[in-house]
Amino acid sequence: MAQPAADRSVEVTLPDGSQRRYTAPVTGADIAADIGPGLAKAALALRIDGEVRDLATPIIEDSAISIITRKDDDDTVLPLLRHDAAHVMAEAVQELYPGTQITFGPAIENGFYYDFVREEPFTPDDIEKIEQRMREIVDRNEAITREVWDRQSAINQFKADGEDYKAEHIGTLAADAEISVYRQGEWLDLCTGPHLPSTGKLGKAFKLTKLSGAYWRGDANNQQLQRIYGTCWRDEKELKAYLHMLEEAERRDHRRLGREMGLFHIQDEAVGSIFWHPHGWTLYRAVEQYMRDRLEQANYVEVRTPQLIDRTLWERSGHWEKFREAMFTVEDEGDRTLAIKPMNCPGHVQIFRQGLRSYRDLPFRMAEFGSCHRNEPSGALHGIMRVRAFTQDDAHIFCTEDQIVSETQSFCELLTSCYADFGFTDVTVKFADRPPVRAGDDAIWDRAEQSLLEATKAAGLSYELNPGEGAFYGPKLEFVLRDAIGRDWQCGTLQVDFVLPERLEASYVAEDGAKHRPVMLHRAILGSFERFLGILIENYAGRLPLWLAPVQVMIATITSDADEYAGQVLAACRAAGLRAEADLRNEKINYKVREHSLAKVPALLVVGRREADEQTVAVRRLGSKNQEVLALDQAVLNLTDEATSPALR
Ligand code: ZN
Repeated sequence: MAQPAADRSVEVTLPDGSQRRYTAPVTGADIAADIGPGLAKAALALRIDGEVRDLATPIIEDSAISIITRKDDDDTVLPLLRHDAAHVMAEAVQELYPGTQITFGPAIENGFYYDFVREEPFTPDDIEKIEQRMREIVDRNEAITREVWDRQSAINQFKADGEDYKAEHIGTLAADAEISVYRQGEWLDLCTGPHLPSTGKLGKAFKLTKLSGAYWRGDANNQQLQRIYGTCWRDEKELKAYLHMLEEAERRDHRRLGREMGLFHIQDEAVGSIFWHPHGWTLYRAVEQYMRDRLEQANYVEVRTPQLIDRTLWERSGHWEKFREAMFTVEDEGDRTLAIKPMNCPGHVQIFRQGLRSYRDLPFRMAEFGSCHRNEPSGALHGIMRVRAFTQDDAHIFCTEDQIVSETQSFCELLTSCYADFGFTDVTVKFADRPPVRAGDDAIWDRAEQSLLEATKAAGLSYELNPGEGAFYGPKLEFVLRDAIGRDWQCGTLQVDFVLPERLEASYVAEDGAKHRPVMLHRAILGSFERFLGILIENYAGRLPLWLAPVQVMIATITSDADEYAGQVLAACRAAGLRAEADLRNEKINYKVREHSLAKVPALLVVGRREADEQTVAVRRLGSKNQEVLALDQAVLNLTDEATSPALR
């Protein structure tokens, strides 16, 4: 509430609930200093009624405030630091390369960038100099202050400074927009803020990471710009951890490993689709077989629905209206338009609708390894992680409202158990509840949300709320797994749907003898096989567990004397169901070991004359320098045991 002007005093409420009264105007810096010298020193910005502002913002009304320090949450502190780092970088660039124009420089995920207009391209040498100058600017501890200018003088000033792009941008702002300019030492930038009080507060936990091209306003017809990217963190420790993660991610890149391990390739003639090579397809099928076994055990039935379906069905399901852009279509010789399915749901409803369903048939769990196509823009594609042709481990559970909790709970259990088998034990859930625009009445939403929450808790999963992010047809759970280098991947999902059964007229005969609509649960565990395989490959850096490895065992001979015995070992392995190959080449054993290690074969059985005489093998595991000599039978038994799919253990 605004205070009467005569009072000229404001009351602020601090995060601990305590209140203080000041003579207005008072700033965040004043309040921090009033609370104590420690806080005054640590203060970076001010939160007024939930909004992040400059520390120097005058408080003119009673408000709830908090002083933001480095200890504040990531989503507040990191963007602040990163946006400042972008400004400090731009100042450094303009000091070092006079005549360079600035355009935009936002904070982004994990860092920041700034786009510059300069004839000569920046070189890696320049990047080093810029980074060095940024450190100097931090040492100078230049004050950062905000000024509000009138439109015309802002345009004039930026024009006079040779900043045509900034001047042009001001011209496009709404007539009543507040034009704020940040002064940082001698340097000026048009910016809405907020910013730190001085460059010294930024610290030095930043690094410039790459150079790339960009266009003014992202339009390829416009002036080409040079973009410099950087990353910035609270402290050295965070920066180091991030840089290490980047290195690891690079080392594990599934596109590189896929090539080195001979798993797949992608080529321009089939943008967004994958050519699976024999080893890659073996891996794919190992994962598919595992999922098929788990689904069978969980009482799902597997089906297969058509790739091409008439647009009229997509119109009835609502996909034509909402999803048209992403759908590939073809025309037949008549006047029919057929769409290549982007999802499996409407097809599954068609199967459910065949014949009369009774409540005794529910829950009806219908699974399909459904091959789908979506017209993703080519710029969004990424290796096998983001493709146009993919296969979902999709299933729809047709059930009654009363069955939502138990079905969700058993799904959560199935999902966590599958993830654990693939080596992922750190799983979190995002719970997305009702969006502002939705179908169905509030009572149904209440029940559905309640059911999902209960089931999540019962499955022992921790969840985070994603308010308002549910689908228009029902609430959803999104399952996020954390990989070996700390990256999060959203894979699984469960969505409650009251709408599609209605639209496509699915029904069952209930105990009361009347027809009712079932609820549909859309659920997937892996999401898409392609993306999940990419995640698996990166998680293990290609060193897949034995049960997933395309080649599980390589038999390598030391001398050609052992060729015949190697054949016997190979036959024994294959008879036991192991995916085994033999390397009888006339090469040194160390050479063979190196080569098969590079190909990430988990077990090497080395055989020479002595092994042949004694019916033994020297077992060498990937990544280990030691080998263990075992009787052939024992070695095969051990490996077979380890290679058993966890679904069958
Ligand atoms: Zn679905």
